[in-house]
Amino acid sequence: MKSEDLFNDAKNYLPGGVDSPVRAFEPYPFFADKGEGSRLFDVDGNTYIDYCLAYGPLVLGHAYPPVMNAVKEQLLKGSAYGVPTENEINLAKEVVGRVPCAEMVRFVNSGTEATMSAIRLARAVTGKKKIVKFEGTYHGAHDYVLVKSGSGAVGLPDSPGVPEETTKNTILIPFNDEEATTALVEKQGDDLAAIILEPVMGNVGCIPPKKGYLEFLRDVTLENNIILIFDEVITGFRIAAGGAQEYFGVTPDLVTMGKILGGGFPMGAFAGKKELMERIAPSGDVYQAGTFNGNPISITAGFETLKHLDNKFYHESEIKGLKMRRGLEDILEDASLEYQVAGLASMFQLYFTNEPVWNYAQAKTADTDKFHKYFHTLLRRGVFIPPSQFECCFISKAHSSEDIQMSLEIMEEGIKTA
Ligand SMILES: *Cc1c(COP(=O)(O)O)cnc(C)c1O
Repeated sequence: MKSEDLFNDAKNYLPGGVDSPVRAFEPYPFFADKGEGSRLFDVDGNTYIDYCLAYGPLVLGHAYPPVMNAVKEQLLKGSAYGVPTENEINLAKEVVGRVPCAEMVRFVNSGTEATMSAIRLARAVTGKKKIVKFEGTYHGAHDYVLVKSGSGAVGLPDSPGVPEETTKNTILIPFNDEEATTALVEKQGDDLAAIILEPVMGNVGCIPPKKGYLEFLRDVTLENNIILIFDEVITGFRIAAGGAQEYFGVTPDLVTMGKILGGGFPMGAFAGKKELMERIAPSGDVYQAGTFNGNPISITAGFETLKHLDNKFYHESEIKGLKMRRGLEDILEDASLEYQVAGLASMFQLYFTNEPVWNYAQAKTADTDKFHKYFHTLLRRGVFIPPSQFECCFISKAHSSEDIQMSLEIMEEGIKTA
């Protein structure tokens, strides 16, 4: 097996054989050869219907021709300039037009940089130090937020190398819990610069907010001079044209974006009201910079991608997501199983637990051995989902109704043999 040999070779040169932890799975990950539409092809000649989609960015599927063509055209004109391009304004206008809280945007290179910078900005404008994060959310791999983090860090102790001086300013509370939130704000509201959250938690599976919880957070933060940051690196441009803030009708102060925004290329951004964003250098005193910020390739790919995310796309995404989730529910019902089917729009996950999942602790009740059996049955049968119970599956524009039907048949087998 070529993938197995490559993985053994990779382990000598790359820690764990991969460049990001979640990519390593037992016994070895398959190595990609190419992607096309809903399909991913490996170097061993296998084909997979892909619901990982690079962990979220590939909302149009792999190698969407209009995006690839726009990028090819830009590539011939160069890949970085160190001076601005017109397309940066075009993409910023598109973001501002779609995302309710966005009046100004700073483009960066990753979601990690976006949340790091947004938190710095929140601390600067409030003059306060502490931030609140929810157990199990993932906001990238930087020190401020690497505390009881989601994604590849689920179940691991907090990382060595992160100074206690940093994490003592990061306070953790459970998601969807108004009482815990109120108690914290009453006690420490004067020290809280920001509450940062994934409005739909997408890094411990998929956990939507309870009805009214986002509205509650909006009220509490306004009353206490706390900046509300929606980390929409997953939900942005996926669940609605304007992200979760449009979907749920709650407008935060700042938003962080990434994944889809770069159209399959590395990019992140943060955005918010003009009066906040003008604090960013060079118009203001809060420093943020990057050699590849606003990179012309990523900007072009992102701009072209957003052109294809119209109302029809969001409507069809809802329908495909429903078909998938209802299909899974039907399988469970037929098999008299009471696992949880979670998700909304084009996001979904199956939790191997009988307990409803509204927060990290409940997600952790899932039986990960069962999940691994399910994952490997799917993989063997040509369906690729993220290799962890604590990631979210995605559906793209390229996934057909037949793809979903075929996948459900394989998932049924996976569930029954788990
Ligand atoms: C992926 C992710 C990030 C980090 O983005 P990178 O581009 O991987 O640095 C931050 N927040 C959320 C919600 C994410 O899903």
